[in-house]
Amino acid sequence: MKLCDDMPLDPYDYLRIQVQLDFQCKRCGICCQVADPIDIYPKDIRRLASHFSISVEEATEEYTIPHPSEPDIRAFKASQPCRFYDEKAEGCRIYPARPMVCRCSPFLSPGQIGLEGIEIYEDCPVAVQCQKRIENDLDLLLNPDAKTRKKLEKALSKMMQFE
Ligand code: SF4
Ligand code: SF4
Repeated sequence: MKLCDDMPLDPYDYLRIQVQLDFQCKRCGICCQVADPIDIYPKDIRRLASHFSISVEEATEEYTIPHPSEPDIRAFKASQPCRFYDEKAEGCRIYPARPMVCRCSPFLSPGQIGLEGIEIYEDCPVAVQCQKRIENDLDLLLNPDAKTRKKLEKALSKMMQFE
């Protein structure tokens, strides 16, 4: 499978998909309070516009700023904590419209796909716990059999293609 025409999956992508599928978020809210920047892709802006019933231009203006290091994407306007984090409810106030990176955190952020190696998001206590499994099962996770590979590719497509 290719995520896009010029980006075949790397063995580490198979690893990422597997640990992400097993990942059980503890809803501690740390990532929503310390992540910066929060990457925003065009489809994230379209989703925000639809969620708030405003135009794409208005959503871009109201909720995003230029990304500090990636010229092709934008970033959330206010993070640390994210403006949509509800401290009382310990949750996201725009959960159905949350950005792609929030859906794919901590292992499958779109910018990581196709890279060799895996980054452990040290602010996330569950991601740190996953490190042990990754170390123990590294060979298996990097080399899934053909049937598992297909299943993982399907799961990745589903995660990446929603609007
Ligand atoms: S959009 Fe929601 S899930 Fe994403 S960082 Fe903000 S509060 Fe957290
Ligand atoms: S830091 Fe990790 S466990 Fe805590 S809310 Fe974020 S993803 Fe979930």
